[in-house]
Amino acid sequence: MRTINHWINNAEVGSTSGNFGPVYNPATGEQQAQVGLASVSEVDAAVAAAKEAFTTWRSASLSRRAEVMFNFHQLVVANRDKIADLVSIEHGKVPSDAAGELARGIENIEFACGIPQLMKGNFSEQASSGVDVFSIRQPLGVVAGIPPFNFPAMVPMWMFANAIATGNTFILKPSEKDPSVTLFVADLLRQAGLPEGVFNIVQGDKVAVDRILEHPDIAAVSFVGSTPIAKYIYSTGTANGKRVQALGGAKNHMIVLPDADIDMAADAAVSAGYGSAGERCMAVSVVVAVGDAGDKLVDAISARLPKLKVGPGTDPDAEMGPLITREHRDKVASYVAGAPGEGATVVVDGRENDLPEDGFFLAPSLIDNVTPGMKAYDEEIFGPVLSITRVDTYEEAVTLINDHQYGNGTAIFTRDGGAARQFQFDIQVGMVGINVPIPVPVAYYSFGGWKASLFGDANMYGPAGIDFYTRTKTVTSRWPDPATSSVDLGFPRTR
Ligand code: NAD
Repeated sequence: MRTINHWINNAEVGSTSGNFGPVYNPATGEQQAQVGLASVSEVDAAVAAAKEAFTTWRSASLSRRAEVMFNFHQLVVANRDKIADLVSIEHGKVPSDAAGELARGIENIEFACGIPQLMKGNFSEQASSGVDVFSIRQPLGVVAGIPPFNFPAMVPMWMFANAIATGNTFILKPSEKDPSVTLFVADLLRQAGLPEGVFNIVQGDKVAVDRILEHPDIAAVSFVGSTPIAKYIYSTGTANGKRVQALGGAKNHMIVLPDADIDMAADAAVSAGYGSAGERCMAVSVVVAVGDAGDKLVDAISARLPKLKVGPGTDPDAEMGPLITREHRDKVASYVAGAPGEGATVVVDGRENDLPEDGFFLAPSLIDNVTPGMKAYDEEIFGPVLSITRVDTYEEAVTLINDHQYGNGTAIFTRDGGAARQFQFDIQVGMVGINVPIPVPVAYYSFGGWKASLFGDANMYGPAGIDFYTRTKTVTSRWPDPATSSVDLGFPRTR
């Protein structure tokens, strides 16, 4: 059985804990590898390497750091098919989807290549007579990243590209469900010229995460995952004096106003609801049909579902793959099973399918008449299940969304510019799409939800990422003629 190792000081290091986790092929249900789960001392070894590397790496010139990022970018682009394959084989997503994930990850490397520009501070000449004031950005030290399973290539790139470019050294704790891709990427960083100890991987579970959260030499933690764990990471990490950004789960609503083009809205809902088998934190989960849009949308969406090709990532025609584990597939199916008992209508039941039984497959499901108070509405499902909620007015639709515990993404489909403008003003959600169903911000903006979708104030990547991974030092300086020096006990004035 293949064993997936840690990565410390630019080399693979086998786990000595004696604990391993299974890594499955979700399309066949077979265990294809085992991943070493780090003990406390293994995390400590990685942190010690990162701590030692920090002194040299923070002293490397900005152009040197940019050069490494440019080299890395070239290597990732040259190996994009291989990386997408690694994502597909452990996560299960189809290759076109894995390629899309990687393309959005690469944008973050491109952004980090501009680090000389991004690290600029401010300078004020003559803040007082003969006195200049300037601010500089400096890295934090050793920082850690803890991503989820659903974007094993992209989300780590959201984190480490900016963290490393700003001069920090990095500890990545990948999801134990699909950990191989980051080891391949780590070797590309080595080939790009990144010095030993700057980027390290500890494979592991809660033991490794808890050690990261309490380790005195780790200055900051970036987390992306489910809301209960995000909350735990934020409270524990900040209690231990760390800077923490913790992004959580989601329940993304897509409003369709009566004037919208129904076919366009149905295409968007199907793409955003079932792409990546619904395992995206920006997936559309609830379509809110306003007025008479409801019946038309149910017809248009259900007509599209039989045409979706569900299958393994090895099938070049497949559009949607399996879910990540058998347990998760069964949990997602339980929302469909429970819907009629709560008063909803199952229009398309994805449990009825002829997909390979050993794989973790579930075909697309559509549930109509879903309302607040039902499990399928209140909870994040994170699978290929789309709900339809019917309301009479735009105001009801907005209230529904604003009352929901999550506030990650949302979208409105309409031909009315005024309604769309009002929506962006009214809605209490961090990322908003206008006729765009998955409004993931480009890498030179920043990513983050509101409410239970983000703990802490720091969004991820883009300008917010540079802020998160640096701290500001403000210098006040003067070069007076010693002959003018005198004792003055008054508080310094500027005029
Ligand atoms: P998860 O919370 O189970 O795991 C995320 C990470 O936390 C993993 O590395 C895992 O090893 C670790 N972890 C899990 N349980 C832990 C525990 N008890 N203590 C300490 N660490 C623990 O999430 P997941 O199932 O891997 O990913 C899916 C979730 O991530 C969904 O809720 C999805 O919405 C969310 N997500 C959010 C975003 C976002 O940007 N807001 C993006 C992607 C995914």
